[in-house]
Amino acid sequence: MGIGDNIIKLKGELPEGVELVAVSKTYPSEDILEAYEAGQRVFGESRPQEMKAKHGELPGDIRWHMIGHLQTNKVKYIAPFVELVHSVDSDRLLAEIDRQAVRCGRTIDVLLEVHIAREESKHGWDAEELKAYMAAGSAAAYGNVRLRGLMGIATYTEDAEQVRGEFTRLRELFDRFCANGCGPRFDTLSMGMTGDYRLAVECGSNMVRIGSLIFGERDYA
Ligand SMILES: *Cc1c(COP(=O)(O)O)cnc(C)c1O
Repeated sequence: MGIGDNIIKLKGELPEGVELVAVSKTYPSEDILEAYEAGQRVFGESRPQEMKAKHGELPGDIRWHMIGHLQTNKVKYIAPFVELVHSVDSDRLLAEIDRQAVRCGRTIDVLLEVHIAREESKHGWDAEELKAYMAAGSAAAYGNVRLRGLMGIATYTEDAEQVRGEFTRLRELFDRFCANGCGPRFDTLSMGMTGDYRLAVECGSNMVRIGSLIFGERDYA
């Protein structure tokens, strides 16, 4: 099966309303074009310079999502065109995205990344910390970013019940923010990757980020 077939198969399998982000980090532009020709338009990258280079050489109607940890000094590379940043893990980063968005005359959509995995190494807000941040309403000061929802990465484990527990907690946090007046545009719950996307969708995900299942094994992360 080729890349295009993989896209078509996945799209057929995902329920209506679940957006597929094809995670193309580390793969060459030719691979992205194959997915594009099969109808895929949303691609996820984790390195700003790599995303910028691919954006420059690929069709203009591709919608680029930043899914990896983002350093403040690299926001400038992607601010002119990025559609959605999934990985906002601090107020400082949000402030910089806002600053760069103003500079570009844009509003940039973002998700807040929540740390749900058991591993210490993963990035993201602690759930309690994020509740306090949201309750304080500080993000409202940033006029050129729009909070669209939450993102999480589950623990990498065979233990489906643990992963289900992590996705469920993120879903509950998302529902809580939705109920507490985050507005109608707070509508995106990004969770699920190659190994756990079916479980994520069962737990309420409406955006999955899938790389290796589409493009094959990666040589480096
Ligand atoms: C690499 C990556 C993915 C995709 O991983 P696969 O297991 O290849 O599907 C999804 N989300 C994030 C944040 C990633 O860094």
